[in-house]
Amino acid sequence: MTSNALPTVIATLDIGGTKMAACIADASGPLLRVVQSTLKSGKPDTIARQGLRLIDQCCQQLQIDPAALQSVGVSSCGPFELRDGATGFIPPNLCGGLHNGDDLPNDWTFLPLESVLRERFTTVRIANDCVAALHGERTFGTAPANSIYVTWSTGIGFGLCVDGHILNGKAGNAGHAGHMLLSDTSEVLCGCGNRGDLEAMLGGRNFGKQLGKPLEVIFSDAQQGDTHALQVVQEAARWFGRALYNLTTILDTEAIFIGGSVWRHNEALLAPLVQQEITDRFPALTRGVTVQGATLGELVTDMGAFALVLPTMWVNDWRARRAWESLRSESIADTH
Ligand SMILES: [Zn+2]
Repeated sequence: MTSNALPTVIATLDIGGTKMAACIADASGPLLRVVQSTLKSGKPDTIARQGLRLIDQCCQQLQIDPAALQSVGVSSCGPFELRDGATGFIPPNLCGGLHNGDDLPNDWTFLPLESVLRERFTTVRIANDCVAALHGERTFGTAPANSIYVTWSTGIGFGLCVDGHILNGKAGNAGHAGHMLLSDTSEVLCGCGNRGDLEAMLGGRNFGKQLGKPLEVIFSDAQQGDTHALQVVQEAARWFGRALYNLTTILDTEAIFIGGSVWRHNEALLAPLVQQEITDRFPALTRGVTVQGATLGELVTDMGAFALVLPTMWVNDWRARRAWESLRSESIADTH
């Protein structure tokens, strides 16, 4: 194989309901990350075309010829749907044409993604953001062959790995376990239409509603010993831990990695509660299961998108040098 057969530069997109990030990397590591607010009006292909423009903007700043890019890895909010053999997405927080989208300035019901990116790239790999994050933790972190990635942020989502195989499902939607039904008494409505599912009860969008206070205030009150706030946080940690216990019993998991802004800002308070909820049950299945923050921190979905398309020859060098650390000095927006 000659060196000409290897890509010299690759691109990634991280598409969230609020922000979108594009990155470009060469063999030495990620070179630049650019972030914009995700567009919410225009034609349904607006978001995919915004992604292409953001990649072009990176190229321009780096003085790279966009034609040199052949591969793009995409970490995106879901859920996904296959149409005419190409992956698109139908996120409730971007599609105004869905039943609860009255507050959005569009009538979108399906957003093309792969078909637009294929106009420019020969290799397009798309994964749900939590699935991509687990690819990142497997490639660059320490996630073992049987592991779970979960984000606790505005929403709650999972990536699931069994026997070293990260699960995708029929349309790439494996791991949408934030919509598992848990409570039959909760009246809180999820963006998916469920009442009492995990994301409805604990997702950042709804969590504060039960006390009429912002989520940040509830956690800060709990940290200062406010009894009622502490009870609310403990109850949330119990539901979250119970969902992880359930998944552990289904998948025979070794290790759980947690990201997302709610977790990152409150890890010290939440981690022991969640760990206890898992390992207090059925020791034959839960003994030794570890719970820890994502080792890639807030870069986990960007690095997950790179993991989807990274040439194998670059992996060891990136790992050894922690090549992603250069991105930490730039401003990082939470895209979940
Ligand atoms: Zn839901």
